[in-house]
Amino acid sequence: MKKKPNKAMREAYKRVAEKGCIVCKVFYNCYSECEIHHLTGAGMGLRSQNFVGLCPRHHRGQDGVHHNTKRFEERFGSQESLLKYYDEVSD
Ligand SMILES: [Zn+2]
Ligand SMILES: [Zn+2]
Repeated sequence: MKKKPNKAMREAYKRVAEKGCIVCKVFYNCYSECEIHHLTGAGMGLRSQNFVGLCPRHHRGQDGVHHNTKRFEERFGSQESLLKYYDEVSD
């Protein structure tokens, strides 16, 4: 049997896009259009299926994970913990 990672990835992306920015959703209870952010850190890379949706502000803006990863994680928790929110916010 052949796997179709591309299709699976597309569907996973779609699910993330529908939920929007996970920080806005969990911390501000609002929906923001998001960009895909692949989790960074030990053992994680672009191959990883671990990614979350972040709006431009929480992705690479002033409060963004790329802007200051340490401060971002201090405020919102580790990127792994954000990933877990996807299981909890199922609407
Ligand atoms: Zn956001
Ligand atoms: Zn990113």
